Amino acid sequence: MIRALLLVLALALVPCAGPAWPGIVHGSRIRVVYQTPKAPEAQAIYREMRSRRLLEGLREIVSVVRLPQALTLRLAECNGEANAWYAPETQSVTVCYEFIQDVRERAPTDTSPAGVTRHEAIVGPVAQVFLHETGHALFHLLDVPVLGREEDAADQLATLILLRLKPAQARQIINGSAFLFASYGAEEKPEKEGLADAHGLFQQRLYNLLCLAYGSDERAFRYLIDRGDLPKERAENCGAEYDQAALAMDRLFRRHLRWGQIERERVRRGFRWAR
Ligand SMILES: [Zn+2]
Repeated sequence: MIRALLLVLALALVPCAGPAWPGIVHGSRIRVVYQTPKAPEAQAIYREMRSRRLLEGLREIVSVVRLPQALTLRLAECNGEANAWYAPETQSVTVCYEFIQDVRERAPTDTSPAGVTRHEAIVGPVAQVFLHETGHALFHLLDVPVLGREEDAADQLATLILLRLKPAQARQIINGSAFLFASYGAEEKPEKEGLADAHGLFQQRLYNLLCLAYGSDERAFRYLIDRGDLPKERAENCGAEYDQAALAMDRLFRRHLRWGQIERERVRRGFRWAR
């Protein structure tokens, strides 16, 4: 699955990309909805995301999977709540305009002290959160068994997909996602409510993200160690952590993929996997 998603995701994240894989989307059961918002700030995001065809790009990614039932991907106004979720009863992934607004407000005006650009700090988290919620949707719709916390599994699936981008783009997205996790983590106190939550603490989610990234390519992500972002003690086993997660995802999703269709498109368009 991860290899199959590589190119479609890469194309989906190119600003203003047009339809990348009409052959795969055709006949898919995925509906995209840009709910028209009322708040002026949300309207600006609505226009930008529509022009960038964000949801269409995500649909292209998800349509690599053969779904037994319909799925809706939508951007919506959420009464001021900066949130995102998957609702099994309506089989829909929702990301709030308010979440994207929050991501934009937290992003550096230009570049962060660690070198994360504003663009990276916005695109990274938006891609990560959509793929995380879509992970929940795939577990549910495909009846994929989840051992361990589902929230961790959804994070792992999102990260594994992001790491299959071309290396330079993967670094940008990982850096941007790490920036948001670190931003949330700085405000988080290890109190009862957070410790008891189904999600890990943001600082833990940050290190899990960085560990998978480093484990996927120790040379490309060496800077995470050099900068002190990822402790050496954790880093020692990240290669094994990555291999274990990648193997699990591959085995769990392989039979749900449209391999034949992907292969035909690959031959017709002559693209090469980026890794
Ligand atoms: Zn979740």
